Amino acid sequence: MSAPRDKVLVAFVDALGPSQLARFEGALPSLAHRRALEGVLGYSSGALATVLTGAPPAVHGRMCLFTARAPGAPGLLDPLRWLGLLPRVVHERAAVRRWLSRAFARAAGLTGYVALHRVPPEAFRWLDLPERDDLFQARDVGGARTFLSDARAAGVSVYAAPWQLPEPARWEHAHDALRRQRPDLAFLYAAELDATLHAGGSGSDAAGAVMRRIGAHIERAREEMGRGGARVTTIVVGDHGMADVHTSIDPRGVVARLARLAPLRVFVDSTLLRLWGDDAALERARRAVEGAGFPGRFLDLAALEARQAPTRGAAHGRAMFVLDEGAIFAPSYVGGRVSGMHGYDLGTPSSRAALASDAPLPAGVSSIADVAPLVRERLGLAA
Ligand SMILES: [Zn+2]
Repeated sequence: MSAPRDKVLVAFVDALGPSQLARFEGALPSLAHRRALEGVLGYSSGALATVLTGAPPAVHGRMCLFTARAPGAPGLLDPLRWLGLLPRVVHERAAVRRWLSRAFARAAGLTGYVALHRVPPEAFRWLDLPERDDLFQARDVGGARTFLSDARAAGVSVYAAPWQLPEPARWEHAHDALRRQRPDLAFLYAAELDATLHAGGSGSDAAGAVMRRIGAHIERAREEMGRGGARVTTIVVGDHGMADVHTSIDPRGVVARLARLAPLRVFVDSTLLRLWGDDAALERARRAVEGAGFPGRFLDLAALEARQAPTRGAAHGRAMFVLDEGAIFAPSYVGGRVSGMHGYDLGTPSSRAALASDAPLPAGVSSIADVAPLVRERLGLAA
């Protein structure tokens, strides 16, 4: 008689960093093995791709929601330029942008995460969206295979939570699927902690309640997976942590000055100024940004390469300025003032992610890129 196959439950909790896990220690009582993991430069689109594939952003190419369009590539976002004909108070309204994001994704046949935030309409002329497919269903991300697709290809029964559903409905979907479908690999996804920490910062009571709720769902999922005596390895992993915001910087004056340094393109993320231009233009931009006294660090192409950021085709920028931890650009092209933020340089506390498991963690697991190999190994998929 063959032994029952080991099952693996992976729960991805957006913004679960080491300090979040420490603060909500009691939320995951069964998961005694814990570790802080090195993250990646950029935002969740890069970190999640690294968790799923085990590859650094330099390989899978994801880092920020928006990239510069490659020469000759079709203008996917071009139709959104007409937004500029509407008054800003209308087209920048959050509800309008959310509705438009959904309508645009549907019309363009995109199944990935699409959020238009507060990007200025004229920038849609030169911007592109790298995340076009549902990451949980995609075979690969920029050529790097996900452990989900490896498992499916090997005939392992896989359940991946539909990230598109609202949080409560997504958990219900997951519990229902774990009971009925009895998968050997389950990938669950929680977004609520990230949203709560952005809104209220790390000290809010709401964050504690959210973490307890997520912990209870994970514990319940673990029991559901283990029904019938199956041996389950549970892996809970974040993509980054969260820093409390203490400094808000209005970038508009400097961005207007940079626009006069043409040929130069600028995208203002919440913690990054991303720049495209020739060497001379970038050097003038560096002087302008540093002259403005922004707290942070200028990252040229070599500095980006050293951080394993995606530099192929300079899609995410030929240079960047990253703010010091705790500062944000507000308004940026992706949002306004908030209490918590992530997306700071490697080495900052909030750039690290937490890992928690009910199984001892191998010594070599030190980065979010080590999670996919761990899952593959547990499922017997190791190359
Ligand atoms: Zn976030």
